[in-house]
Amino acid sequence: MTCRDLFERLSEYVDGELSQEICEEIQRHMEGCEPCVAFAKTLKKTAELCRRLPSRPIPPEVAADLRGVLVTHLSKRK
Ligand SMILES: [Zn+2]
Repeated sequence: MTCRDLFERLSEYVDGELSQEICEEIQRHMEGCEPCVAFAKTLKKTAELCRRLPSRPIPPEVAADLRGVLVTHLSKRK
């Protein structure tokens, strides 16, 4: 999984429900990736949600946060 993959997964995630598989991939990636850890203020929220819920739509304010961070991050990389 690359950083970009991670962001793509996350944007899928903000559009829908959290899957256990995606959670695990995100957490595994973040164990070995400094930039994504730095980016993790919002991701941390995600990770907490991962731990808390098996599968439930995420709160709209969290989705909005994530979306904003993703857009900013991806546009910086271009
Ligand atoms: Zn990364």
